[in-house]
Amino acid sequence: MDLVDNRYSIQGVDLIDLAAEFGTPVYVYDAEKIKEKFDSLCNAFKGVKMKVKFASKSLTNLSILKLLRSYGSDLDCVSIQEVHLGLMAGFTPHQILYTPNGVSLDEIREAVELGVTINLDNISILEQFGNVYHGTVPVCIRLNPHIMAGGNHKISTGHVGSKFGISVYQIPHIVRVVETYGINVTGLHMHTGSDILEADVFLRASDILFDAAKNFKNLAFIDFGSGFKVGYKEADIVTDINELGEKLSSAFKAFCKRYGKELEMWFEPGKFLVSESGTFLTTTNVVKTTPATVFAGINSGLNHLIRPMMYDAYHEIFNLSNAGGTKRIYTIVGYICETDTFGVDRKLNEVKEGDILAFKNAGAYAFSMSSNYNSRLRPAEVLIYQGKAHLIRKREVFEDLTRNQVEIEI
Ligand SMILES: *Cc1c(COP(=O)(O)O)cnc(C)c1O
Repeated sequence: MDLVDNRYSIQGVDLIDLAAEFGTPVYVYDAEKIKEKFDSLCNAFKGVKMKVKFASKSLTNLSILKLLRSYGSDLDCVSIQEVHLGLMAGFTPHQILYTPNGVSLDEIREAVELGVTINLDNISILEQFGNVYHGTVPVCIRLNPHIMAGGNHKISTGHVGSKFGISVYQIPHIVRVVETYGINVTGLHMHTGSDILEADVFLRASDILFDAAKNFKNLAFIDFGSGFKVGYKEADIVTDINELGEKLSSAFKAFCKRYGKELEMWFEPGKFLVSESGTFLTTTNVVKTTPATVFAGINSGLNHLIRPMMYDAYHEIFNLSNAGGTKRIYTIVGYICETDTFGVDRKLNEVKEGDILAFKNAGAYAFSMSSNYNSRLRPAEVLIYQGKAHLIRKREVFEDLTRNQVEIEI
């Protein structure tokens, strides 16, 4: 995003003009930013055979999926519906990894029929899978290395109390099941959560995977999941992708040598690729002074952006309409009948009713977690691609709320 003469723009597209054209609230994505992040990841791992499987749950818009495909990304899907979206966006089944949690064998059968790579995360389903397919359908196994990522239990998935993955302590049991049914294990996977700061934590977890790999003779890839920490505040420490690239690549190469085969290294980033690309534009409905603070109330709420309330996530907020104005302190809140506070005691250029307030880092888990709570409509989405703003999702209309309701005689 650029700021010139107190006007904010992305790829030369003025954001106030964009808000006037498409209305607010609106999610705006910068294709160039996604490309920059994608390239930086490829660059950090250029010494190994690395594949990026974009975690589609973070931002599932078809045009975004197509964009990432055009950059060379594959896809990670956590539901059969995401698999169908991926296929619609033009990914081949071969490019799609299906990583469900807690689904029935029926859904997994459907994924097998579609020809995507299956990633299983519990022994019960692995046994049922083996009983049906034996060695005919290759499978990846999701392990839980019991490494605690960050301090946040809500986004950490690798600790001992987590529902995800099969415990590394159960490897003897996995091996028994695999041998009994002749299952063809071609990949090992971990995803320890979304907040790993240190390359060293990745390395510790990967050592556990390398060790587990000894038990499986036919591996083609190891999937390190994600966990790249993204900066939300100016001062946030982020994963140093080049440091991680260097350290993990050399550990991986040494492992491949021991294993006797050059495997592929896979990653499944969501946030890392799309978080920074997104800006959420809203309009100030009311400025309300109370004995405690000054509230800026906007035409949005936890129905559009739930991360601040659900994860205590910090999103930088700024006033697009008065970029040169005097800074004052505000608490920014939504219009939902819940406490939906986006930010407390934020310094913004003086806010007047009608001003456009923008949220940074609104690409990942923002629109994709939106809802119709309070019977509010979901926002539009716009992609800025090759210097032009393209509508990639229409704003909902009232009929969207009633479409599937069935009224009975009362
Ligand atoms: C959510 C998820 C990811 C992506 O996590 P980010 O923090 O957005 O990078 C990757 N893999 C799996 C299995 C996931 O569930």
